[in-house]
Amino acid sequence: MSDCLFCKIIAGDIPADIVYQDDKILVFKDIAPKADVHLLMIPKIHIESLAQLNESHNDLIAYMMLKLPELAEDQGLSSGFRTIINTGKDGGQEVFHLHTHLLGGNNLPGF
Ligand code: 5GP
Ligand code: ZN
Repeated sequence: MSDCLFCKIIAGDIPADIVYQDDKILVFKDIAPKADVHLLMIPKIHIESLAQLNESHNDLIAYMMLKLPELAEDQGLSSGFRTIINTGKDGGQEVFHLHTHLLGGNNLPGF
């Protein structure tokens, strides 16, 4: 997707503060953090949102879910963290490439 911001980050065309990546996912710091730790986890393939998932994504989604606590632990969030996936315009999604917010630490805002 040539006009997708997060695809441009994956391609290296837009800089990001990357904390983890492998062949399936990229994890980087949110540019406007809402808590001490605020990361975004994205799949390296372009998927618009949670609403576009199908069974062909089963392995990828399981992989992402299992990586989240590992990343939280790496960030020192041993006593807990919050994950958020905004879906669609009415769900508050602003960037239309599936992403999971991983938030934690002090200053975690109320839900
Ligand atoms: P959404 O509202 O779509 O769930 O979240 C999009 C998130 O992407 C926001 O928290 C916003 O701060 C973050 N964001 C938007 N543009 C950029 C960018 O260019 N770089 C980074 N690292 N984060 C971004
Ligand atoms: Zn994309």
